[in-house]
Amino acid sequence: MNVADSQRVGSSLEHLGYTFTDKAEEADVIVLNTCVVRQSAEDKALGRLSSLLPLKRQNPGLVINLMGCLVGVRGADKLRERLPYVDVFSPPSDPGPLVSFLTQGEIRAIESTETARRFAYMDGDLILPGHERGQLVSAHVPVVYGCSHACTFCIIPFRRGIERSRPVGDVVAEIRSLAAQGIREVTLLGQIVDRYGKDIPDGPNLAGLLRVVHDAQGAEGIQRIRFLTSHPNYFGEELMDTVAGLPKLMPHIEVPIQAGDDQVLANMKRGYTQQQYRDLVEKIRARIPDCSIATDIIVGFPGETEAQFMETYRVLADLRLDVAHLARYSSREGTVATRRMDDNISDEEKMRRFRMLEELQEGIVAEINKKYLGQTVEVLFEEKVKNRWRGRTPTNKLVFVESEENLKGRLLPVTVTWTGPWSMQASLQKQPELISL
Ligand code: SF4
Repeated sequence: MNVADSQRVGSSLEHLGYTFTDKAEEADVIVLNTCVVRQSAEDKALGRLSSLLPLKRQNPGLVINLMGCLVGVRGADKLRERLPYVDVFSPPSDPGPLVSFLTQGEIRAIESTETARRFAYMDGDLILPGHERGQLVSAHVPVVYGCSHACTFCIIPFRRGIERSRPVGDVVAEIRSLAAQGIREVTLLGQIVDRYGKDIPDGPNLAGLLRVVHDAQGAEGIQRIRFLTSHPNYFGEELMDTVAGLPKLMPHIEVPIQAGDDQVLANMKRGYTQQQYRDLVEKIRARIPDCSIATDIIVGFPGETEAQFMETYRVLADLRLDVAHLARYSSREGTVATRRMDDNISDEEKMRRFRMLEELQEGIVAEINKKYLGQTVEVLFEEKVKNRWRGRTPTNKLVFVESEENLKGRLLPVTVTWTGPWSMQASLQKQPELISL
């Protein structure tokens, strides 16, 4: 989401006549787009911000814009006092305050004027920043901003605000403009993407939106469509059948479980049980053939006992999912978990549980990937990294291929020659390029 937000800021600045530099000391405007999902991310953002202070002292005309979840949607008064050298504070997904500041030359409160919204490409078309145009193969398209779920550990609803779905027309217009700029793959984003449309009366749900995007005129150059992140409670059969039935929709689902123990899940207020998650995985696998599934897990949630952690271990061992994004619980100020629960698991114990799951998952994925050995898979190539082309399979597996040809943006069948837990190697087949339907 932050990558997509930063692209909007870049587009807005170019629209105003600025050009990109990746050297802070050369910049007239510096935008620091922040994440605070864990304390370590917040510390990193604040550290980076203070590293900009000498530049501001040298050049008082330098504009520093702090953006994203560190600012949040509820106003930045406290931050303004604490960080007087920051010129503009922007909430997540909104370049409006920066555009207002640069165009009107005065510090404004967090708001999006109509003009700012238009300059900020929030209403449809998106022109990628010049340094990315023609370089990117994949792009992220936010379709739902914010989240109204309020899991007890999560700070995102406080910082990104309530759930707001973008109108279908805006999403399609943006994807068309991305296709015209050479983008081949789009990933539709939402904190709970499968709740798309629930706040739009008579609007389509996510399955409906995916059908519209799949068949959109002017977006034929888009060869692959993905979406994330799903919530188990909203991932229904219509969505499964839509993924299974449309060729451009990739068989890869990101649906977090977060914990395997029912009491921990209840304490997290996730809204489902371990068995319901197991049933969902079974259903997805039955309806979407060869689908890969990714999950998120937090270890060391307040009060999580060894027995409760082992429930998580067992679920992961049983389900044999393709990816597990693991995190150690991090207390976030203002959340229900921080206010009402005791963060009583030591850092060492959190790390021990993390490592146990990591080791388990590494073995599982190594075995899953072995089945690709000798197989032909379609890979969409993104970029060359150290003499090897990097791309992804429909199931989102990372593949490297050695080739002197320019493969960027091409969808090609390859033969897998080596597999490991985190990537595969493959060779090109001497066949004509696949034509996407
Ligand atoms: S659904 Fe996701 S974003 Fe929303 S509160 Fe829960 S963890 Fe946070």
